[in-house]
Amino acid sequence: QEVHRRAGAAHLRLLGRLAVISSSSRASSHGFLGCLSDKRIPVFTQGSDSFMPRLNAYVRNPRFLENTTVRPLYLVMPTNAGHVQDAVRCGRRHNMSIRVRSGGHDYEGLSYRSVNASDFAVLDLSELRTVLVDSQTSTAWVESGATLGELYYAIGNVSDVLGFPGGVCPTVGVGGHFSGGGFGTLMRKHGLAVDNVVDAELVVANGTVLNRTTMGEDVFWAIRGGGGSFGVVLKWQVGLVTIPATVSVFKEAVSGSEGAVDKVTRWQKVAPALPGELYLRVRVQEKKADFRASFLGGCDDLRRVMNRSLGLNGADCKEMTWVESVAYIWLGSNATREDLLSRNTSKSESPNSFKATTDYVRQAIPRDAWAEIFGKLV
Ligand SMILES: Cc1cc2nc3c(=O)[nH]c(=O)nc-3n(C[C@H](O)[C@H](O)[C@H](O)COP(=O)(O)OP(=O)(O)OC[C@H]3O[C@@H](n4cnc5c(N)ncnc54)[C@H](O)[C@@H]3O)c2cc1C
Repeated sequence: QEVHRRAGAAHLRLLGRLAVISSSSRASSHGFLGCLSDKRIPVFTQGSDSFMPRLNAYVRNPRFLENTTVRPLYLVMPTNAGHVQDAVRCGRRHNMSIRVRSGGHDYEGLSYRSVNASDFAVLDLSELRTVLVDSQTSTAWVESGATLGELYYAIGNVSDVLGFPGGVCPTVGVGGHFSGGGFGTLMRKHGLAVDNVVDAELVVANGTVLNRTTMGEDVFWAIRGGGGSFGVVLKWQVGLVTIPATVSVFKEAVSGSEGAVDKVTRWQKVAPALPGELYLRVRVQEKKADFRASFLGGCDDLRRVMNRSLGLNGADCKEMTWVESVAYIWLGSNATREDLLSRNTSKSESPNSFKATTDYVRQAIPRDAWAEIFGKLV
């Protein structure tokens, strides 16, 4: 095990070079461009008419659509694994820093902008989006440029009783999501997306491709948390989880006069003890508590649990397949499973631009504090 650990540490040193590609020596942008063109890798320069539309296509934080951000010199759009390997080699040879972008949902735009370096290129993986689901082994290989919606759709096309525990927003890219966690409706029973990754193919600084065996367990651990730092993950193999054929969902908005403060206060106490099959989230905004649930089972059972724990009646509870429930939770009650394939964020019921952070409270927020919070909401 010690030998294995040391091998892993050596790998980390090698891989670390990708992230710090020389900032001291000046990048040769012409050399980089020439290298890409020798290898016939699709690339857009700032002067090209397609540059801004393609760059902005995966800028999910609208603040960074503005002119205030440092833009990449080049947008490199590989269409196969060899392109990614060669782009990394070209970057290294010509001292061009590379940002890796999959779905572009990074809140700080780390995949496509820079605050100080003027010479950098974006390696955009959005054309690498193949998903192969194997229902025999309950696994799937998914390329980093696929969205979560494309992954869920592909699983739903093959089976109604398989699912994957990732995030709720279908336009999030697999590449960044699996590089840093991934929580969603199945997390209480099946954990995070990264807990269910079983293998990956990683392009490292010298352009070679490593899999789980050749990269070693330390690196395999590191890439599921250190997105953008250790190399470019081309694709991921994930284990799928078993889902009942019937999943139920419901939404219920409770206003202040209907007891929202009491219900949210109580939700904090009962939610941790609810069955693992139940995901119940509450969004507090516009003086309402908006409860949304997804349950691995039928409506009768869901209503019983909701009524007993929170006094919610679940009147509009609906039964459907898991993949349909995924569309319902983020895109709303009229969404179809095909909507999961849309890369257009405007379909979402959630606001188009927001920034979120997650905190873990160890003590419930007292009722008085909730009353004050509701008083301040508009
Ligand atoms: C609207 C919205 C909804 C969200 N919902 C959820 C949710 O329900 N659950 C949840 O857990 N999170 C959620 N997130 C957060 C999201 O999972 C992370 O921001 C994630 O990193 C985005 O991945 P991406 O590929 O879209 O982003 P990108 O901006 O492309 O990448 C994010 C980071 O990962 C690196 N990276 C990307 N691809 C690769 C790759 N192939 N190899 C190596 N590094 C790579 C990038 O360089 C960057 O540092 C949400 C974010 C938004 C904006």
